[in-house]
Amino acid sequence: MPERDYVLEVRGLRYAYPDGTVAPAGTGALSGTGGREALKGVSLVLGAGEKLALVGPNGSGKSTLLLHLAGAILIQSGEVLLHGEPVGGDMTRLRGAVGLIFQEPDDQLFMPRVVEDVAFGLVTRGVPVAEAQARALEMLESLGIAHLAERPPHRLSGGEKRIVSLAGILVMAPEVLALDEPTAALDSQARRRVIRCLQSMEGPMILATHDLDMALDVCARAVVLHEGRVPAEGALPGLFRDEALLERCGLEPPPRR
Ligand code: ADP
Repeated sequence: MPERDYVLEVRGLRYAYPDGTVAPAGTGALSGTGGREALKGVSLVLGAGEKLALVGPNGSGKSTLLLHLAGAILIQSGEVLLHGEPVGGDMTRLRGAVGLIFQEPDDQLFMPRVVEDVAFGLVTRGVPVAEAQARALEMLESLGIAHLAERPPHRLSGGEKRIVSLAGILVMAPEVLALDEPTAALDSQARRRVIRCLQSMEGPMILATHDLDMALDVCARAVVLHEGRVPAEGALPGLFRDEALLERCGLEPPPRR
């Protein structure tokens, strides 16, 4: 595929969390020799309209990678390209293009009413409050949860919180959707609801999870992340039939393959 057909591309991304040693400003150097290196040279591509699973056990670097894609972490080493163009240090380009749904919905929900929460991102972009809330309500309706609009977010169930945080990102119409363990800690019914919602979505998506069964339901291709590296990638379901690979990478084989 020629480069221009990729919406997002990651090349040789490395990232070390600070360990208290400060990296010389502007050098792009990994911070501190003792810093925990969460990404050790990750490369991947996301095609137009593709739903890509990013699978790996806890601590493999999934969240760190998604935070880069959403422009929430400054690139230390390597490149992220949007439509074939390196973003360099301009994180605002990624922030405008990639909507990240956090692993913990409570990190995203903080307004007194659900409708205000869903409208919040639009308001911060300068959309008048009334219009932002009207658009938020439309989004809640399209996800079948308009009845939650007036509820305080902290009184919602785990599954409801996830769909509401999804609504808050979708209403911003990001070009790429990045989801971090969207079914973590959900019961099976809420999990099915979130999966159906993801299946019905169009447009490119990166779905980070250790739930291989969900990856099979939603995505046609997966990238495996293990200890900050990509040991394998490939089409689904074929990739998940490699039991030795899954075991080596600390992943539980899905019940059906
Ligand atoms: P995953 O999302 O796959 O669970 P993470 O990206 O959260 O993995 O973590 C990758 C590695 O980086 C882990 O070793 C984790 O302990 C470490 N890490 C994550 N967040 C921080 C942080 N804020 N400070 C220091 N180390 C971190």
